[in-house]
Amino acid sequence: MENKWEAVIKLCKSRGFMFPSSEIYDGFSGVYDYGPMGVELEKNIKAKWWKDIVHRNKDIFGINSAIFTNPKVWEASGHTSNFSDPCTTDKKTGIKYRVDHLLEKIGVDCNGVTDIDKIKKLFNDSKKLIKIEGVDVNDLQDPEFVNLLVESNLNKTKFEKTYLRGETCQGIFINYKNISNSINKNIGFGVAQIGKAFRNEISARQFIFRLREFQQMEMQYFDFPNKSRENFERFKKLSFEFLISLGISKENIRYKDHDNLVFYCKNALDIEYKYPVGWKELEGIHDRGDWDLSQHQKFSKTTMEFFDEMTKKSYTPNVIETSIGVERLFLAVLLESYTEEELPDKTTRVVLKLKPEIAPIYIAVLPLFKKENLKQKAVSVFNILSNDYVCLYDETQSIGKRYRRADEVGTPFCITIDYQTLEDETVTIRNRDSMKQDRVRISDLKKSLSPDLFD
Ligand code: ATP
Repeated sequence: MENKWEAVIKLCKSRGFMFPSSEIYDGFSGVYDYGPMGVELEKNIKAKWWKDIVHRNKDIFGINSAIFTNPKVWEASGHTSNFSDPCTTDKKTGIKYRVDHLLEKIGVDCNGVTDIDKIKKLFNDSKKLIKIEGVDVNDLQDPEFVNLLVESNLNKTKFEKTYLRGETCQGIFINYKNISNSINKNIGFGVAQIGKAFRNEISARQFIFRLREFQQMEMQYFDFPNKSRENFERFKKLSFEFLISLGISKENIRYKDHDNLVFYCKNALDIEYKYPVGWKELEGIHDRGDWDLSQHQKFSKTTMEFFDEMTKKSYTPNVIETSIGVERLFLAVLLESYTEEELPDKTTRVVLKLKPEIAPIYIAVLPLFKKENLKQKAVSVFNILSNDYVCLYDETQSIGKRYRRADEVGTPFCITIDYQTLEDETVTIRNRDSMKQDRVRISDLKKSLSPDLFD
């Protein structure tokens, strides 16, 4: 197989999973668009997360907060002052590089280090070991912090600066009181949200791994301080199980504890995925203590405390957070399912072995030939099935090519309508993975379309 990373990027474009944004205008760095297959896969991944995290847990609820907020939110959260990455600039080209990433490559961890002098020292001490193709490391300037918040001019007359949200969770924190009042719960509940986030990333490279506009699926669990450990373990396990249920294999994910914790964080780990470019963060799980709510209490002068009738004490709840990027997961799912198989005739077929539950198209309906009576019959089968499944009707090119296209986007079942269909109301069903074909009556079709036929 050619490099899997390159193969998946190619497939994303050719089969309509992802397109570089504004490609006809030479693109726009760090921004991508979902194509017809991508949008289905993305929706299915998000729907599965919502089901597993929100609907299957009786103590977790959802919200959908706005992208814009009063700019004070970002002051309170610390983003206007601290949401930054250490960066060095090549004096000759002006290209910026993340210092933490350069150091990580040579085994130096500066994650969570907020003192710029410490970072400068780490960087200068190990500068001679850093390697960037085509760059003389002596041309790299001293590190500086670059803020990642994306500014906007919305409501500019009223506020000096407004921002697109840098993370979705602040929408949850600022609604904490509204939520707890509306669900009539004091403590021991979680709030989940899926939505866009924006970051002025220093170097948006590596396809959709590091984007400037992306989506997060986040959950914040509010509870008593003494429940933090237990909750942390609960969501660490739940997050892992969710990834496995999406078809990610155990060997390709691992927990990585943070060596340096951000000052307000009591405990933190990443779930990393083994991308072809190395082990990289897919999800973060953090014990944020009462930092966020206390900050919003301080800045908004609105109490975030609750009174516990049992202990007769007031608490600011502790928060355990899980945060996963939709696009990083989308990419992991594609990499995981991308398979090349050599067939008996020595040709190679590309097949995405996606879990049927998240496949963009569940069934491809294919008339064997472009004859009017076959096409009409195929459309009537499409109409019956599309009430219950996402189907694709495809009559172009040879049947072999259509099977290949269906395999390449991970379609679990192909249904072919041929002359026999017109005589006895039967069709063939082809299984994506085994490529076995069975003849089935149209009236019995639904029984033969179970996702359980795939492991
Ligand atoms: P990194 O260290 O890779 O920059 P981070 O620690 O800044 O990530 P968080 O702020 O914890 O990331 O965000 C939570 C999740 O959101 C990450 O685990 C990742 O899946 C996703 N994410 C963060 N930044 C990006 C980005 N620029 N592009 C795509 N996904 C992102």
